[in-house]
Amino acid sequence: MKKIVCLALVGLLTLSLFASGGKNSWMNTARIAGGVLWTDMTDEEMKETVYEIHERGQSVILTWVPHPLLEDWSSHLEFLRKASHYIHETYPDLALIIYQGPLEIVTPHVDSNRDGKVDSGKHSIYTDHPEWLQVGMDGRKAVFYGDYAFWIGETDEDVWLCPSDPEYRELVKSHFYELAQIGIDGIWIDIPKFQCDFGDWNSNWACHCEDCQKKFKEDTGLEIPKTIDWDAKPWKTWVLWRQQVIANFIKELNDTAKSVNPDCKIIVEHWHGIDVESVREAWSPILLREVTDCLAHEYPAASYHPSTYDYYNYLRDVASYLFYRGLGREHPSWILAYSSEKKGQKMLAASVITAGCNFYDTDVPDMDGTVNLTQQKEIFHWIKGYSLYYYDAEPWGNTGVYYSKATMDFLYHEQWGEGDFYCEFMGVSMMLLSSHIPYKVIFSLDDLDEFHTVILPNTACMSEEEIGKVNQFVTKGGNVIATGEAGLYDEWGYSRSQSLFHHNVISIPDSVGANYYRDVQPYYPWWAPEERGDGEEFKSHFLAILEPLKIPGIYEVDTPKEVIVLPFVNENTLILRILNLSEIAEGEPRTQKVTLTILWSVTNGRLYHFLSSSVPIENPATVDVHDHALLTFNVSEPVTIVSNSYDRPAADLLTTFLEKNGFFVDISSSCHSCMEQIRGRTQLVILGGHKALGTGELVDILLTEEEKELLEQKGAQYIFVKVDAFSEGQIVIIVAGNEREDTYGLVEKRVFEIVQTLVRPEAYYLRFMRI
Ligand SMILES: [Zn+2]
Repeated sequence: MKKIVCLALVGLLTLSLFASGGKNSWMNTARIAGGVLWTDMTDEEMKETVYEIHERGQSVILTWVPHPLLEDWSSHLEFLRKASHYIHETYPDLALIIYQGPLEIVTPHVDSNRDGKVDSGKHSIYTDHPEWLQVGMDGRKAVFYGDYAFWIGETDEDVWLCPSDPEYRELVKSHFYELAQIGIDGIWIDIPKFQCDFGDWNSNWACHCEDCQKKFKEDTGLEIPKTIDWDAKPWKTWVLWRQQVIANFIKELNDTAKSVNPDCKIIVEHWHGIDVESVREAWSPILLREVTDCLAHEYPAASYHPSTYDYYNYLRDVASYLFYRGLGREHPSWILAYSSEKKGQKMLAASVITAGCNFYDTDVPDMDGTVNLTQQKEIFHWIKGYSLYYYDAEPWGNTGVYYSKATMDFLYHEQWGEGDFYCEFMGVSMMLLSSHIPYKVIFSLDDLDEFHTVILPNTACMSEEEIGKVNQFVTKGGNVIATGEAGLYDEWGYSRSQSLFHHNVISIPDSVGANYYRDVQPYYPWWAPEERGDGEEFKSHFLAILEPLKIPGIYEVDTPKEVIVLPFVNENTLILRILNLSEIAEGEPRTQKVTLTILWSVTNGRLYHFLSSSVPIENPATVDVHDHALLTFNVSEPVTIVSNSYDRPAADLLTTFLEKNGFFVDISSSCHSCMEQIRGRTQLVILGGHKALGTGELVDILLTEEEKELLEQKGAQYIFVKVDAFSEGQIVIIVAGNEREDTYGLVEKRVFEIVQTLVRPEAYYLRFMRI
């Protein structure tokens, strides 16, 4: 979008890739699946396996090793060192990562009579190291016998270890050191959490071990609360402290691995992460993203089983994936979701990549299977071929939806799982998606200026500082919709006597998103609702709130709500990713017509059908979309801002404002040799007067002598509009002040008029909606 900025970033990126060995990008374009490499493979078998994996277009191999506390793993590490070396030598685009679950150990076959105890004469982690185990609120240690989960055999022992135990912590670090040393590309960490509800534990909030008690006292001066009390500050302090312990543990493992192999990436898998489970189990994805290279989100998608093939389930999935993308920011978002038949495999891949996440192919419930190897190959090759359109593009969106960690941490815990904040957040996201309004999920209110409209979906717990940022945004002309109880509690979850929002904040006391969500009732395979609505009544209410805001759009789209359209920009390429969910209950959608008019001036349109062929298209275009498609266009006529380095802050300010109002902007420095090219642009904004460095040469031609005289007066600030200056139909706006500060001040003050002067079709999303 901003050419100079983009080029500068590319420069930095290239440097950092070079500095760290040039293999960073494999995570961003990862196409993941299992590919177990057994130690007893011959060299030929290993090479054959790797060859087949690479042929299928897979780019990341996840494999397993035995636990070093249960079995000497040196021969396995030696084998993997050899495999890793071979892979890097032979296939530079293939990465090898190893699975670790450092806080859970299953000791097999130690309870053969199934009496819930280790057989006499046998050893287990619990019998040998009882002090390592997590301890629940009721004082029980986290040891379980029997098949509590599918990965635990009926005569096995399953223990959950505490990262606060110094001996165990050092041991795990030494394992990570050994693993990273063999030259692998990454370590995948699963289940880094404190137990709360596993097996016969119900709200047994670990960990109350001696080490945790001591450490909590040292860190906070408090005792670990012995009862759940959501009104008490010590309880809340402890809830946050548990999350921090897990995050610090992961950070130490990351540092340890990188100390011996700086290129070794740390990938952390967690479950879901959007709902209250992230609080109960203390694995906050918001904290974990700061201490990892990538999060892998295990997620129960609609593709899981034919009984869950449903429009609203898929819609919820895409909303979740966009949550993960907002969370990941510059890090990739890997999705570990499952499918159980070929149709589900294809739709899962289509929905994951539509959102810009990375596809991990497997089948229910394993991590190393696939539903269909032939289709896996087609999918991986498709993603590989078009990764530029999936992983190098920035989402376009001028609506922000705020996710509030404090609200998830401290409110609505009486509602298991899908509480009021979760439902509101998801409902709002799903209504925007089904209304073709692109949005970004944000986790902080620091940079609101890029948005035209910000939605606070029942973000009840907000600090005064956060509310201050919201108020500042609305006083500058931004739109804010606050639904439900937004802002009525402080950041610790204590209620306020009155709202602190500026009167321009649009407060909607209804939980319009939660009403929608609970009407359409997205579901998972373990529970199906009996009666469901279509949510349209609540969506109409929501859209009636949005409509007067006239959120500027960049395209008109005519297609039913079952079709999701998401826009992305890579340099001067506009990319639309389309996902069709019409009649998805059959497993594959019915082909749907989509009519699109791009409001930017675009050329070279092309339509790519998922796993199929491509055809050229015009703008506007009416296209048939089967399941998923990419539409790409070159943007040929950006609004060009000509600025020298002194006026760059004014150029950035104007760019941000133009972009959120739907313009495509290019910032250009003025130079003698590029003068011809600049003159040819249809919409030009030149910052600075005739005496400004660089840009002055151009302005000098355009201004009359009288206009120049005006500008030379102290404190002068002028906007000159020149029509048909160098060519017919051209508009040139000169924003100039006598001093540099005058130019900036003028842009800040008159930005609305500058935008109105630029020629652009009047468009906002809701006007064109077909519900
Ligand atoms: Zn502990």
